[in-house]
Amino acid sequence: MNPTQLFDPASSTYTYLLFDEQTREALIIDPVDEQLQRDLDALAHLGLTLKWTVETHAHADHITSAARLAELAGARTAAPAGCDVGTAAVQLRDGDTLAFGREAVRVLHTPGHTAGSVCFLWRPAGEAAERHVFTGDTLLIQGCGRTDFQSGSAEQLYDSITRKLFTLPDTTLVWPGHDYHGRTQSTIGAEKTTNPRLAGRTREQFVQTMDGLGLPRPRRMDEAVPANQRSGLRQDAGGAASGEPAPAEGYAGDISPRTAHDWMQAGQAVLVDVRTDAEREWVGFVPGAETAAWKQWPGMALNPGFDAAVQTAARDGRPLMMLCRSGVRSIAAARRATALGLAAYNVLGGFEGDPDEQAQRGRKNGWRHAGLPWRQG
Ligand code: FE
Repeated sequence: MNPTQLFDPASSTYTYLLFDEQTREALIIDPVDEQLQRDLDALAHLGLTLKWTVETHAHADHITSAARLAELAGARTAAPAGCDVGTAAVQLRDGDTLAFGREAVRVLHTPGHTAGSVCFLWRPAGEAAERHVFTGDTLLIQGCGRTDFQSGSAEQLYDSITRKLFTLPDTTLVWPGHDYHGRTQSTIGAEKTTNPRLAGRTREQFVQTMDGLGLPRPRRMDEAVPANQRSGLRQDAGGAASGEPAPAEGYAGDISPRTAHDWMQAGQAVLVDVRTDAEREWVGFVPGAETAAWKQWPGMALNPGFDAAVQTAARDGRPLMMLCRSGVRSIAAARRATALGLAAYNVLGGFEGDPDEQAQRGRKNGWRHAGLPWRQG
């Protein structure tokens, strides 16, 4: 079986959807944020459950929809370990495999376009060999990715292509990360013999060509790379909110997630995650937050260890900022901490925000919607 190939005309990016025909579990490679709805529609149309959203590298020309797909489709995020995508739940290293149903892809580390760049190899279930390679910007049809920024190296790219990709069987199908001329796929054999940058060229000749390209800086680079290193969340998402706490009854006040983040960064106050251990594990957590569950599964009984946990969080005298799922439990937790003699704020909207008209969370208010740092467990 072949991957489903999707195209973003603005950035000429190919996104690939791979799935297990029996279990309908799927994996998506290099999704583009402007195409989020198209990809959600494709998943629904094909009856797929998205298990993984993965990147070949931290892109400079478009922004990934990985974090949005994690929220809206329940996928886990994975990115190459060398690409500084700190928000990805899984950091991929050479030889790692990602399974979806009976299918799996294998990671091939191919530095050169960027130091962390990887390709993915796929042997469809029931087939004898790895028949597909998703090359990102490492190998393009009749070309290759540039090497002049983002820790690129022409020498490394030559070695990755000639020693790793070109040792795959000639019949292996090549699915590139981009094409600017309407071509959709190639083979290792064809690229080996006809790719003008590589066929019959020495390493020195290749490096000389790459060094002399003189390409313009990618238009979206300054915006795209930092956003992609946060799985596509933009720092300014959600707009600016007032930094002032709003007065509240029975605790220090209500603050926006943005203010909570700023206070945490400045070391002014301590963020305390009062959700259950299971929620943090399954939904995601904020790096650097202390934990003091207000209630716990099973049964959502009050956590007898709550008082001790908040006392510990407040050990150096800084005020606490309580964060829960949607900003309800955190009010109760802030009141309890206040009763214990501590200063405690409530973070409005919680981690997941408020439900929208379709009862979906993650689109309105809250920590994640504001584009603030978080990770999957
Ligand atoms: Fe790239």
